[in-house]
Amino acid sequence: MTEFDLIARYFSRPSRRGDVLLGVGDDAAVLAMPSDRRLVAAVDTIVEGVHFPVGTEAAAVGHRALAVNLSDLAAMGAEPAWFTLSLSLPANDPAWLQGFSSGLYRLADEYGIALVGGDTVRGSLSVSIQVLGLVETGGWMTRAGAKPGDAIFVSGVPGEAAAGLAVLQRSLAQSPDSRHLANRFLWPTPRVSLGRTLRTLASAAIDVSDGLLADLGHICERSGCGAHIDIELLPTSSAMRALFAAEECERMSLGGGDDYELLFTVPGERMLDVEAAIASTELRCTPIGRIVEGQGVTCYRAGQVVNVAQRGFDHFGG
Ligand code: ADP
Ligand code: MG
Repeated sequence: MTEFDLIARYFSRPSRRGDVLLGVGDDAAVLAMPSDRRLVAAVDTIVEGVHFPVGTEAAAVGHRALAVNLSDLAAMGAEPAWFTLSLSLPANDPAWLQGFSSGLYRLADEYGIALVGGDTVRGSLSVSIQVLGLVETGGWMTRAGAKPGDAIFVSGVPGEAAAGLAVLQRSLAQSPDSRHLANRFLWPTPRVSLGRTLRTLASAAIDVSDGLLADLGHICERSGCGAHIDIELLPTSSAMRALFAAEECERMSLGGGDDYELLFTVPGERMLDVEAAIASTELRCTPIGRIVEGQGVTCYRAGQVVNVAQRGFDHFGG
């Protein structure tokens, strides 16, 4: 099979979006922009052995490559529209490609995002996706708007993905708990509809990809403020507690990456609106602390400062 056959077979499904004027097959895609929206762009690459374990099932790799990008759109409050896919493959393996494209298209269909182009090369396995989203003019979220007094919320249960990765790496025994955690790592759910809901309510937002403390640190830096979080308020997971010691659970909750939950801040006057909006979704969102004057994130337990030497994942960190 040639490169062209491969693209034709696995990545040329016709788009269901009317705004794709020209998709896969030409030198570039042509997309129709609505006049009352802004274009939101993000790109993320996942590399075998770095972002997912060697041998991860192909459908999960396809899902993950798109999910991590959809999560960036979610953090901006944007609506997914189009994406391009740059694929580096060690071999032309039809079973792998079939699994990969089915995982990718399943998630793409769920979020109404269309694959409009890409590139395919031979090399070690890595997947780079660029997403393009749309957001109302003037109505997007950033990391920069948090103010002292704002409440800090997080969606879902941060730490479960790190626990799931540990389950996979340590080959822990199969059980409902270990499967639940492994699935949180392998099949992250981008919080796109929560992002759309928060768009006009949250003062700042970020997706939790590097770890809760590290990503809250990014909000503090960009917003010019500090944060206090109460460790006892962190959402916990019975599956994590069943498989890992308490200290390890806490380390995963605060420092584990890969959850793709949303971390966001809410001014006092919007608390009731946010609580009502959250109550109308299935997704658990938990208040875990407050934005304060100053800088950096400080953790408290029972009113006492606790030192958690936590750093998020950094590819080039020492
Ligand atoms: P060019 O040399 O002009 O970049 P390519 O041969 O790389 O063209 O790609 C041919 C067409 O197939 C282009 O429209 C490109 O966007 C698309 N394409 C290539 N690889 C992929 C892929 N992995 N997924 C989706 N579209 C792809
Ligand atoms: Mg090309």
